[in-house]
Amino acid sequence: NSKKKGGGEQTLTVCLRIRPMSEDEENVGATKIAHAIEKNVLVLRDPMDDHEDILRVNRTREKKFVFDHTFDGDTGQEEVYVKSAKFLTENVINGYNATVFAYGATGAGKTYTMLGIDNNPGIMARALNDLFLEMDKTSEEMVYNVSMSYLEIYNEMIRDLLVPSAGILDLREDAKGGCHVAGLSEVKAKSTDDVMKMLIMGNKQRTQEPTAANKTSSRSHAVLQVTVIQKNKVVNTSEEVRTGKFFMVDLAGSERAANTHNKGKRMVEGAHINRSLLALGNCINALSDKQGAKYINYRDSKLTRLLKDALGGNCKTVMIAHVSPASTQFEESRNTLVYADRAKHI
Ligand code: ADP
Ligand code: MG
Repeated sequence: NSKKKGGGEQTLTVCLRIRPMSEDEENVGATKIAHAIEKNVLVLRDPMDDHEDILRVNRTREKKFVFDHTFDGDTGQEEVYVKSAKFLTENVINGYNATVFAYGATGAGKTYTMLGIDNNPGIMARALNDLFLEMDKTSEEMVYNVSMSYLEIYNEMIRDLLVPSAGILDLREDAKGGCHVAGLSEVKAKSTDDVMKMLIMGNKQRTQEPTAANKTSSRSHAVLQVTVIQKNKVVNTSEEVRTGKFFMVDLAGSERAANTHNKGKRMVEGAHINRSLLALGNCINALSDKQGAKYINYRDSKLTRLLKDALGGNCKTVMIAHVSPASTQFEESRNTLVYADRAKHI
């Protein structure tokens, strides 16, 4: 494929964020087993080592993982944004598509990174703010139109998070082989504050289900799509219209159905989630393959169909994997690290 970028410019960036210990974790006496050392290395210690006899202390089963960036619990929202997804805004302004997604078990910090909290917004609002700033700079020559939509995929069903009353929406293939969601609302984005309010409201509409492992776990994928259409004021022909799409995805919890003693309805949900995450993982693996010749099967899930024209080709993708630092979350953290590590190669 002639669109493929050369060696220096990687298509996929993999970051890892460790959140701070929570009060609950401190209260049950959890120890910190995940540490960021250097800017891009994470060390994970198997908590079973703590119980082994003193003679074996030197044979600790610490494992090192290397990523493009590793963020520890004291890394703030701005730094995470700047070092992970900020560069994507430039691509989108230039008419290319981009995707950033947050991966990890429920409670690991995905929504904190993507949406953020009231006075400390995450990547979604920060990226939109940068798009606004960038457009202000060139408003003499260019006309911009920025719109956003916010949806969830739950059990392979799509719902509009900005207009929940619209019910279940269809994913349709268009003539160019891309996908769009029929009837999905598109909102003009004006200011960062506006955007943040809309996203917080939308996020409250996400389907939350109680499970045995967590009081609530988010089993839905939340997808913010920002579309930037630009036209040159001077060269006023229709060919001069450029479109860039930017997907920002807060994935469903990656924990396995098996760990939550799920039965019945929950079990089906688990299978669907794993299908989407597995499909995404397979696409990501194919993208990061040096040979580049691998066939990428987007058709396997709603999520990958939706992201199809924003993954691969000349698009840039950023994955931010999330883990808790606590010993009580060892299994989940290890699973997440292995998934992220696999995505990174080669
Ligand atoms: P997830 O979306 O992966 O289920 P959340 O983002 O909801 O997890 O995070 C779980 C809890 O931990 C929330 O109360 C959140 O505010 C807090 N939290 C997560 N990451 C951080 C962080 N980096 N700094 C401070 N608090 C965090
Ligand atoms: Mg969440």
